[in-house]
Amino acid sequence: MQKLSDRTAGFTDSVIRRMTRISLKHGAVNLSQGFPDFDPPKEILDRLSEISHTGPHQYSITWGAQNFREALSDKQSKLMGRHIDPEREIVVTCGSTEAMMAAMMTVANPGDKVIVFSPFYENYGADIILSGAQPIYVPLRPPSFAFDTDELSAAFAQRPKALILCNPSNPCGKAFTRDELTVIADLAKKYDTYVITDEVYEHIVYAPHTHTYIASLPGMFERTISCSSLSKTYSITGWRLGYIIAPEEITETVKKVHDFLTVGAAAPLQESAVVGLRFPAEYYENLLREYTGKRQLFLKGLDDLGIRHTTPEGAYYVMLDISEYGYESDLDFCEKLAERVGVGAVPGSSFFREDVNHLIRFHFAKKNDTLYEALNRLENIKKQMRKI
Ligand code: GLN
Repeated sequence: MQKLSDRTAGFTDSVIRRMTRISLKHGAVNLSQGFPDFDPPKEILDRLSEISHTGPHQYSITWGAQNFREALSDKQSKLMGRHIDPEREIVVTCGSTEAMMAAMMTVANPGDKVIVFSPFYENYGADIILSGAQPIYVPLRPPSFAFDTDELSAAFAQRPKALILCNPSNPCGKAFTRDELTVIADLAKKYDTYVITDEVYEHIVYAPHTHTYIASLPGMFERTISCSSLSKTYSITGWRLGYIIAPEEITETVKKVHDFLTVGAAAPLQESAVVGLRFPAEYYENLLREYTGKRQLFLKGLDDLGIRHTTPEGAYYVMLDISEYGYESDLDFCEKLAERVGVGAVPGSSFFREDVNHLIRFHFAKKNDTLYEALNRLENIKKQMRKI
């Protein structure tokens, strides 16, 4: 048999999804793959049951159902401070995973350089491999996860085609400040670089921090491909509803890439989600209040157990320092943690380009009872995770 494609040779399976399988196997409380164990808003579910009878059940327009794009345009125009044209500046995709892949395919030629901050969400590695681009990694150093402006400038001096920006960041919880985004934006303009964002946690940013869309900075809409999704905002990760917002010159090509990749996102689900996109501001305030409460509950629980951790400014992940346990492999640590303690985590090394083996990631997008159960199980972590 001939060899399979070279482009897939460097692929490993997703460690995040693998940790979910390991958690299931050991009956662990799964704080690895980030998704909620609570229900989406009732209004969206009620609409879904109506639509199961009325339709649509056939394809929507390939770049997204008209009313979905109109509702999204109304919502995002307010947030991003400019009118987003629902006809020309939006492409609805199968999750932001497809949005980012389509963005990379649209922008990058094989051999083009792309800046990625490290730690980074593992899909960007795959996006880069599949589009044939060459990554330039710029570290966000724990514990503050700030970047060094000289290092970033040196990366831009290599004339990258694009920079990938996850804001707020998965896994480190960094919410980039307006000043930091201005540094990135000035360099992107100076070196004529596109910015591809992943802003799926845009509504989960804890006070006093706030979310700034880099596309809203002066001169940036032109060169930014903003990717996001409804997964986290409406707790519907399985619906796979994402989107790209970008100028028409870019979406014209994105639409073709998207059409040939997937034709379109599920029509009945787009239709059902419109009611969510039309929620008033209170919905987003409540969502943030809920997550602020979960963050407080979980971080205090970790503090009470004497477990060292990061304090996220946004998103719903926290990184724990496991240096004291003396494991060489954080993957080994996470496998044993699921088995012995009964809590699933993701090894930090799957996010860092650098040799970082002392951090693991938990998420707290779970019912409070689930979080209490995880904390209960973690009570004896020091005894149970001692190297035998
Ligand atoms: N973004 C979530 C995480 O980092 C879910 C990832 C996924 O499996 N799509 O865990």
